[in-house]
Amino acid sequence: MRILVVEDEAKVASFIRRALEEESYAVDVAPDGSQGLDLASEGLYDLIILDLMLPGLPGLDILKSLRKEKITTPVLILTARSKVDQKVDGLDAGADDYLAKPFAIEELLARVRALLRRGSGEAAGLLQVDDLVLNPATREVTRGGQRIELTIKEYALLEYLMRNAGRVLTRPMISEHVWNLDFDTFTNVIDVYVNYLRNKIDRGHKRKLIHTVRGSGYVLKAES
Ligand code: CA
Repeated sequence: MRILVVEDEAKVASFIRRALEEESYAVDVAPDGSQGLDLASEGLYDLIILDLMLPGLPGLDILKSLRKEKITTPVLILTARSKVDQKVDGLDAGADDYLAKPFAIEELLARVRALLRRGSGEAAGLLQVDDLVLNPATREVTRGGQRIELTIKEYALLEYLMRNAGRVLTRPMISEHVWNLDFDTFTNVIDVYVNYLRNKIDRGHKRKLIHTVRGSGYVLKAES
């Protein structure tokens, strides 16, 4: 899951970035409004956290442009402007949620999870393929009821594969969603991580879930 943080206060931005990265999200930060709009317009993000008072271009204008361009990425407004009419303006402009500063990081993370769940159309929150189950709320992964311990990147990769079960994911797609913008796609890091995951998910199981699609990428699915 890849998140864009549009925030001009460097301290706040790096605080949010660190918290999100600890939760295994790939994070890009835009320090002003015009960079924010440029990055957000690429439509590569699963969620955008948007400050309103920004140099360059106000957050509300970014939001309006995105919605005008039919970019439907969920947007969480995070700002010190917390009066009711300002919240209403933000939500009316197409924001999906609104959190006032100062905020508790736990609440921000909970709202992020909720928006990502909504975005993927998943109801109860559990992702399941065959006997492999992932709970995005607790980041717990089990196969056949057995708990599997994953590192942050392994978890992020597995969540992305499970959210797109049955669909072939290319290396550039994987790097875009699991790693951040400046990630070099030409390294074999993705293959290395897929192998780590295979060792934890498929090793010792008759039914393999992670499959290589030669020349394209990887797919997670029940049948071989
Ligand atoms: Ca600001």
